[in-house]
Amino acid sequence: MIRLHNTLTRQTEKFQPIMQGKASVYSCGPTVYGYSHVGNMRAALFSDLLNRALSYNGLDVTLIMNVTDVGHLVGDADVGEDKMIVAMRREGKTAYEIAEFYARAFFQDLERLNVKPASKYPRATEHIPEQIAMIERLERNDLTYRTSDGIYFDTAKLPEYGRLSGQKSEEKLAGARVELGEKKRATDFALWKFAPEGVRREMVWPSPWGEGFPGWHIECSAMSKRYLGVPFDIHTGGIDLIPVHHENEIAQTLGADGVPEANLWMHSEFVTFDGGKMSKSLGTVFTVQDLVDRGYDPLAYRYFVLGGHYRSKINFTWEALDAAQNALNKLHEATRAWPRPADTGDPDYLERFLAAINDDFNTPEALAILWNLVNDETVPLEVKGATILRFDQIFGLQIDRYLGKLIEVPDDILELGARREAARVAKDWTESDRLRDEIAIRGFAVEDTADGPKFRLV
Ligand code: AMP
Ligand code: ZN
Repeated sequence: MIRLHNTLTRQTEKFQPIMQGKASVYSCGPTVYGYSHVGNMRAALFSDLLNRALSYNGLDVTLIMNVTDVGHLVGDADVGEDKMIVAMRREGKTAYEIAEFYARAFFQDLERLNVKPASKYPRATEHIPEQIAMIERLERNDLTYRTSDGIYFDTAKLPEYGRLSGQKSEEKLAGARVELGEKKRATDFALWKFAPEGVRREMVWPSPWGEGFPGWHIECSAMSKRYLGVPFDIHTGGIDLIPVHHENEIAQTLGADGVPEANLWMHSEFVTFDGGKMSKSLGTVFTVQDLVDRGYDPLAYRYFVLGGHYRSKINFTWEALDAAQNALNKLHEATRAWPRPADTGDPDYLERFLAAINDDFNTPEALAILWNLVNDETVPLEVKGATILRFDQIFGLQIDRYLGKLIEVPDDILELGARREAARVAKDWTESDRLRDEIAIRGFAVEDTADGPKFRLV
């Protein structure tokens, strides 16, 4: 039984897939107007954790992650320019070139973080007809109105609006100092924006309402329906998407198609830097490439993220990343000397691990179980190996690249090892200990096994 926290009900619930043996998941992906930072990558790592954990439980997962390449405005409240247009001006490139460039960088980061590819990464600009069709359905259901700059969703006409964030439309209106403009309510949002003067032609499409481009939220409702059908099982995203983007997605699907978009909504918390915000102006924004440039293995960041529960804030510091890198090295090195894994793992450890994962993805607990196993001398090494490879189907720390793979030992170290072995045979313990120390100074530990001396890095 898998228990998952549902933002919509604020409860941890038993997961019951719509179709037995299958799971359909939609994750909000990047807006490709700039590099994704390590905070953004946490949302992708959470989507990957969900994908891996459901697969581990034997479910056949379809995961869709969109790529936003139009419609995401600088201000979330339907004001400001499209983020892609800002990037076009900044870099003197076409929208297509910008999207290609940053989408590629994002996919490279996914690969470096060992994220399993989604089933599909649909792009907003490739699904304009579906978005227009959905807005037409909303219009037929009398849920839209027109202003001088676009077509808007009339949230007052949908009594269910606001359920996800638990915030009433009027409260938001009272609390926020939002420029209403021609909008009737603060929570109303753009479905279609008319092309303002001077917008590049490539960012403009014809529509029944005139030339323009879709609002940001409609792409997710349209593409999730297109690829998963609605309702589907689980929708994910970063926690900041709850009050506007996801609320609006729910309203669109309910308004256009009369059904909930997804049964379960899951959100990953933010990453802070040194206890504060990740912000460009403060210089506290780092990309995966920045970590690589500083000599870290991207998987150290993956390990760091696994160390916190996905619903807790995690605080990124260089010390924390050092600790994660050290733990990861230790784990990889420990497994090098292990023999070929057995066919099956240790049932007790596997059960405890699955219980932690299926308890709303308690990865800190699952990592603690992993270290218990590594240090447990009662479990034979080949059984440890089989167990840890199973764990790694969820952790994704590429243990298979290290397990049983002894490192290349330089000839002179082998020579020192052979001399030490001879000293041991001659029972010259002083000389054998001296040679062990000499080997240790060179960074290797030597272990005496039935097959002769074995080396590992210290
Ligand atoms: P964007 O590319 O700006 O649309 O953001 C992509 C995802 O990253 C969204 O789901 C955000 O919720 C998430 N996100 C943005 N900043 C952070 C952060 N500091 N920590 C964790 N997630 C973040
Ligand atoms: Zn979305």
